[in-house]
Amino acid sequence: MILIHPPVSKPCEPPAGVAKLCGALDHHGVKQRVLDANLEGLLGLLNTSPAPSDIWTSRATRHLSRHLASLRCWTAYQVEGRYHRAVKDLNRILSMTARSSRVRLGLANYEHEELSPARSTDLLRAAETPENNPFYPYFGNRLPELLRAQQPSVIGFSLNYLSQALCTFAMIGFLRRDFPGVKLALGGGLVTSWMRRPHWKNPFDGLVDHLVAGPGESPLLSLMGITPSGDDHYTPNYDTLPIRDYFAPGPILPYSSSSGCYWNKCSFCPERAEGNSYHAVPADQVTDDLLHLVHKHKPVLIHLLDNAITPSLMNAISEHPPGAPWYGFARFTRHLIDPDFCLALKQSGCVMLKLGLESGDQTVLDSLQKGINLEEASLALGNLRKAGISTYVYLLFGTPSEGLIEARRTLEFIVEHQDCIGFLNLAIFNMPIHGPEVEHMETKTFYEGDLSLYTSFDHPKGWSRQLVRQFLDKEFKRHPAIASILRRDPPVFTSNHAPFLVMNKASRRRGGKGREDAVWDGEMRGI
Ligand code: SF4
Repeated sequence: MILIHPPVSKPCEPPAGVAKLCGALDHHGVKQRVLDANLEGLLGLLNTSPAPSDIWTSRATRHLSRHLASLRCWTAYQVEGRYHRAVKDLNRILSMTARSSRVRLGLANYEHEELSPARSTDLLRAAETPENNPFYPYFGNRLPELLRAQQPSVIGFSLNYLSQALCTFAMIGFLRRDFPGVKLALGGGLVTSWMRRPHWKNPFDGLVDHLVAGPGESPLLSLMGITPSGDDHYTPNYDTLPIRDYFAPGPILPYSSSSGCYWNKCSFCPERAEGNSYHAVPADQVTDDLLHLVHKHKPVLIHLLDNAITPSLMNAISEHPPGAPWYGFARFTRHLIDPDFCLALKQSGCVMLKLGLESGDQTVLDSLQKGINLEEASLALGNLRKAGISTYVYLLFGTPSEGLIEARRTLEFIVEHQDCIGFLNLAIFNMPIHGPEVEHMETKTFYEGDLSLYTSFDHPKGWSRQLVRQFLDKEFKRHPAIASILRRDPPVFTSNHAPFLVMNKASRRRGGKGREDAVWDGEMRGI
């Protein structure tokens, strides 16, 4: 079996879903080969870009190898200007390379001028004309070479982001045409969301042999004629992934301890709207897995992928630290108002927590069913700062219960807590097409396409997307305290690279030791 991670998604860490599948196949003795077509494809395009026709592209091309090297060691993360230039130059080369294919291409972006990843007819068109895809020169050679060497009976694609969809279908179309005997399976987060839409009808019949919703381990094993026992646990396997080649100063180890969300109450949440149930790996198994994987791969960072890490898992990690720095999403729970809990997290290696605050207005939070008390959130932010854990705070504007007054309260909350907030993510609310609120709202098609996951709605307070955008651009982002937080955000890689900036800063505070010292020195020794 060959498992493919298609372009385009941020090339900073190995694909966790594919590693999980490898773990399951390995456990049952099924031979597999992984192709990170995203990393290989992006590097292929960067290294074979046509002759530059303008000064910026020519300078970017001249510095290509230096930029790649600087993102793969600590150099770029030490100087903000250097990091920004490296990322922007790489994006420039990619965008110029793909221009003739009518694609806006970047390190985390793939937008076709005409074809939409939310329209099945457009995905089928991408499959019919793989030669038009800018990655064709790469996969048109690589896939036949791999198929000749591996002779797979099944090829599985893991499709998680919209930016991967058109390339995935171009590759599927190519394989279907040139290798009609191979079975093609398609799964991943985006496919799951499509298949959980109400009234789903498979538009890819005849092109894709197996569409998989939800975790892919059991369906893939069944395809190989194996019936897994329901309680098997599979530790992800990164052995066949090029974990040292990603755009990071060392290997990042993504690990998911659960699927779904233990809270599962937020009214706007796609997880809840899709009805994804919550499954968690037992905490002692998680800490064992992490210790084993850290010992094996020596990562510079662990990325916990859970929608929300449970307080009990945080406790378990504090008691059994994985031996490498880590970060992930957590909720503002009462546990974080205990300074000792935060300190123990820090000592276990936690460098950053991503926290969905969404709003600085209590009535909005209550109507979203976030389960957040703003006074507790305020204490939590203060405790995390004192413990030395950075925060990446997520805000959501334009929710049904928010208006200008409430949005200004969010602004005030952020300004009041500016010293405790490392990074900010601002988003405008999209209503899930099958969310619980849809039936109470006047809705219309928001993003034209039969695979669209969201719908637009008439905001009950008249707080339209256009007004929200105006508020964000003219008021919120212009506040000096907020502007200074936003400037810190790593372009393109955002929260994936933010921990490196934090680790670097901590290292400089301790006297400027470099590289691995930044990871292991000082407070990390408290593990
Ligand atoms: S905490 Fe996050 S994942 Fe969980 S229900 Fe709320 S929005 Fe969804």
